[in-house]
Amino acid sequence: MALALTLAAEGAHHGEVPVGAVLVSRNQCIGLGFNQPIGMHDPTAHAEIVAIRQACSQLGNYRLPPDTTLYVTLEPCTMCVGALIHARVGRVVFAAAEPRAGSLVSARQLLHNGYYNHRFGVMGGVSGAQSRLLLHGFFRLRRQSKSGTNPTLPNDPVLTPSHTHPN
Ligand SMILES: [Zn+2]
Repeated sequence: MALALTLAAEGAHHGEVPVGAVLVSRNQCIGLGFNQPIGMHDPTAHAEIVAIRQACSQLGNYRLPPDTTLYVTLEPCTMCVGALIHARVGRVVFAAAEPRAGSLVSARQLLHNGYYNHRFGVMGGVSGAQSRLLLHGFFRLRRQSKSGTNPTLPNDPVLTPSHTHPN
């Protein structure tokens, strides 16, 4: 999770909402990602999807090894839970819960719907405080930038995207 948090901070450095993801199989990192829909001009480029694409591409397989754990700094959204099911991830460990868009334990509990042919283990709250700190810091900075009260960020286009939410 420490690496996922570092990746999240890297995302913030690029003006993206700070979310980071790491895929681990057999104690090895097989995929990394940070949230980058703005930079990649890709609404699907959430940290989880970026990490899944990297891992599957390198493995030459459309599915992840069954023991794969995803460490992600924010509870995944509907799209990412869907992708994780398709990728057959073994377990998801997330840091901060996402009250509005979270689709594992918060706004929706998709795995409990019963109509998916794959389920995975879920653990939340690991390093949650650090993740929330990153997210709150990012949004506070962006609000200051928008209101013009932060002289170091004058009309920075990457810090004033139209969307307000990562997942
Ligand atoms: Zn997502």
